[in-house]
Amino acid sequence: MPKIKKLLVANRGEISLRIMRTAKEMGIQTVAVFSEADRLSPHVLFADEAVCLGPPPSSESYLLADKIIEECKRLNVDAIHPGYGFLSENSDFARKVIDNGLIFVGPSAEAIEIMGSKIAAKQAVSQYDIPLVPGTEEAISDIALAKAKAREIGYPILIKASAGGGGKGMRLVEKEEDFEDQMNRAVSEAKSSFGDGAVFIEKFITSPRHIEIQVLGDSKGNIVHLFERECSIQRRHQKVIEEAPSAVVSPEMREAMGNAAIKVAMACNYQGAGTVEFIVDENLNFYFLEMNTRLQVEHPVTEMISGKDLVREQILIAEGKELTFSQEDLEINGHAIEVRVYAEDPQNNFLPDIGKLQTYRRPNGPGIRVDDGFEEGMQIPIYYDPMISKLITHAESRDQAIARMVRAIDGYKITGIKTTLDFCRFAILHEAFTSGNFDTKFVEKYFKPELLNTKLSEEEKEILAAVAIKFLDERQNSTSHALPGNQKKESSWKKRLYN
Ligand code: ADP
Repeated sequence: MPKIKKLLVANRGEISLRIMRTAKEMGIQTVAVFSEADRLSPHVLFADEAVCLGPPPSSESYLLADKIIEECKRLNVDAIHPGYGFLSENSDFARKVIDNGLIFVGPSAEAIEIMGSKIAAKQAVSQYDIPLVPGTEEAISDIALAKAKAREIGYPILIKASAGGGGKGMRLVEKEEDFEDQMNRAVSEAKSSFGDGAVFIEKFITSPRHIEIQVLGDSKGNIVHLFERECSIQRRHQKVIEEAPSAVVSPEMREAMGNAAIKVAMACNYQGAGTVEFIVDENLNFYFLEMNTRLQVEHPVTEMISGKDLVREQILIAEGKELTFSQEDLEINGHAIEVRVYAEDPQNNFLPDIGKLQTYRRPNGPGIRVDDGFEEGMQIPIYYDPMISKLITHAESRDQAIARMVRAIDGYKITGIKTTLDFCRFAILHEAFTSGNFDTKFVEKYFKPELLNTKLSEEEKEILAAVAIKFLDERQNSTSHALPGNQKKESSWKKRLYN
């Protein structure tokens, strides 16, 4: 395969920018794509060239596979990086990219296809002796048979859509009376949301941890793992805080999980960067959940502890190069935590809170990384995922990484919209998190909106400051002589109200 000279990133925001930064370091020309809502986004301004794909809705812009490929030809692009989301796990797109003589920075269309179906994935790994959550390994449609199977597994069970993703397409059934109704709902939901009505049953692990393994595979058949990421702090089955390494994974467990992940990658001839997700029960038994065939949102924590640039590795693999390191060369250096800063209101069920970033100031200093795609004054568009940024800290130990994260959160100034920052501060300082004794039910178990600091919002502080200044001005004007200390008084008022 030839060296990549020009790369188009078929994505937006932070991940587009993050990929292009590495491309630039590798001497690769970059092409950004954007919708009309993202015209002035940092990823567009960073790129060497940029192409408008169309109006804001993804279906009219970022998902236009043919248009993206056409633009590649027009601009002499030789490779496409899909990022995450959008077209990244679309096997038809991967195939089209290749068929058009371009390089797809990702795995083969076949690997994407197998792992895109939870049922096909379970079947593919079945000959590799990988622990699976007890359940059915094929689609179920016969209610009576399904009920018998559910009884055998034991309630509570989950009915899952084979094509589901992003925490959607799962139904919890606590008792047999509810089974039929939930199954009918699950099938019709799976059909309408994913265009595929296939569902299967899995034992519901009551308080699991979500731990995943990063893998890298090259075109010569070498596969390594880059340790685990703990992603148990979730809201609505979606991750919000991640860390590496996990506080509960011992070296032996890491090796066993790493080897299982490598086997999963082997089962689909995996090339590129991928993530094998496991669910871990309270006795630390782990079970394969699924494989994500792309760069993961939370990949930075792995980069911090492994010292590897995963995008660089993806690009080298796509160029046909062999991995330059083996499993023995890899080691964990320190501890990294990522919090996802979403434009969401934790006081209101984490509902999106979109609007304008009136103030936007990043924290900085040793061990802090911010991956974002916005600048002050920009609008968070309603059309896409409301993630503003990923805030990552890296330090020698877990405790230090937590302390560093508190400093980073406190130094992050965002006004104009509500964010998950305060929630993340609460979570990482909670005894369950600091002790490492937590699971995916963290939010349900410990979080109540009233536990968040009931400090005034920045906007409220600004309003109060303005009122106070007006009051002081009026008082000054109403007195016949100006007080010499007035200026000082005004700023100290302001200071008090702002802090
Ligand atoms: P998706 O493809 O939608 O991300 P996953 O299968 O990866 O779906 O599951 C997402 C999350 O749902 C997991 O991280 C976990 O919190 C929960 N989950 C999935 N399967 C189970 C299970 N069998 N028991 C309990 N929780 C589960």
